[in-house]
Amino acid sequence: MKITFWGAIRTVTGSMHEVGVNGRRYLLDCGLYQGRRSEAAQRNSEFPFAPPSVSGIILSHAHIDHSGNLPTLVSKGYAGPIHTTPATTDLCDVMLRDSAYLQEKDAAYLNKRHGRRKALDAAAPNHEVQPLYTIADAENALKLFEPVPMHTPKVLDPALSYEAYDAGHILGSTSVLLQYHENGKRIRVVYSGDVGRPNQSIIRDPEPIPPVDYLIMESTYGDRLHKEVGAVAAKLAEVVNRTCQRGGKIIVPAFAVGRTQQLVLLLHELVKENRIPLVPVFVDSPLAIEATKVFRKHSECYDAETREYLLEGEDPFAFRNLRYVQDAGASKALNDLRGPFIIISASGMCEGGRILHHLKNNIEDPRNTVLVTGFMAEYTLGRKIVDKMPEVPIFGEPVRLRAEVAKLNELSGHADQRELANWVKPMAKGLKKIFLVHGEPAQSAALAKVLTAEYGVETVIPERGETVSLT
Ligand SMILES: [Zn+2]
Repeated sequence: MKITFWGAIRTVTGSMHEVGVNGRRYLLDCGLYQGRRSEAAQRNSEFPFAPPSVSGIILSHAHIDHSGNLPTLVSKGYAGPIHTTPATTDLCDVMLRDSAYLQEKDAAYLNKRHGRRKALDAAAPNHEVQPLYTIADAENALKLFEPVPMHTPKVLDPALSYEAYDAGHILGSTSVLLQYHENGKRIRVVYSGDVGRPNQSIIRDPEPIPPVDYLIMESTYGDRLHKEVGAVAAKLAEVVNRTCQRGGKIIVPAFAVGRTQQLVLLLHELVKENRIPLVPVFVDSPLAIEATKVFRKHSECYDAETREYLLEGEDPFAFRNLRYVQDAGASKALNDLRGPFIIISASGMCEGGRILHHLKNNIEDPRNTVLVTGFMAEYTLGRKIVDKMPEVPIFGEPVRLRAEVAKLNELSGHADQRELANWVKPMAKGLKKIFLVHGEPAQSAALAKVLTAEYGVETVIPERGETVSLT
């Protein structure tokens, strides 16, 4: 059995690993690489193997950096099955269509800009940009999904099977246990996917996995310790109460899938316990509305606390002062509404979408609060807000940032160093080697040190394109 590491190697984006058995090729994830435009375009459109030569794919979870290049693979001839959980299948239906829509929009924008340049300078070279993939490509990929529930062993090849364990990262997320049989010998390999934090709302904790021979694992926060999850409700209540007391609005940029539903459930709990005033709460994102439908449908993924809502005949994602805003006109009408109230909107890093209007209209008023609930990458508007720049550009114009900026860092979907090391523990006995992926080099190196010290297991950080033979 051979593994070749193709993506999210010494970085956190574009997850993809190849499993080779008996001359056949399988993929673990096929994620979109997000980075500088030219590099990303090349990485995503050129595969290091012929797509039709792949026999099957196992998808760990729906995040675009793990699933988002499947439509490209399919547009280049892949026609085999894509195995993943039922919840991931439904989330991908929402997310891959959205990703394709953004690819098409991005290409149209570049072509329009180029067209304007061409009008001014007829000598400018002709180069029409094609979207990486289209909505039709995404739909073709979605047709290949074959849902397999967690803990249901699936035979891929006479010698290869897998079983999915709950990774506790987002709805439907899994770690994958591969079993390979060769000459009466069994080799067991776990691919972690992304590992979540214990005690996150909605979903279950990452599950313990029995001892294995090899481990391919993420290391996003290999050098970091997060704050306790338990404090998050109290912190959210404080921000809401403080802002409401001064008559302000709370503007919450949040990822539409996962983070928004977590926030809704936290606010639901605070409302039930009378810990915050009954002010209107608006979820203003069509993508979040679609994703919430998937969350409602997949109660098999809920933890015990979220299941309790169902036992009481309640919808966890609805309460009396909560409104989902589908229509663009209704979204704009929120501009004229007086506070206090709460708006949760996307995109998460404030790079586009309806959140931009809400920020533009509200960040100049010191009574208001921008509540940051996730990681903000460098150079994004979200990062400029977290850094409290006195002026930030929105729709190309400078806007004074005078609102309070509060942070809820506890909502991270990724385990920290200690949580990752604890996750390895049940697998550690007899473990021959750990391969660290999905991490910046410093993060992976720090985790490697901890894992080697704690379990005495050789831990390596592979190179991109490196192949290892597992025996
Ligand atoms: Zn993820």
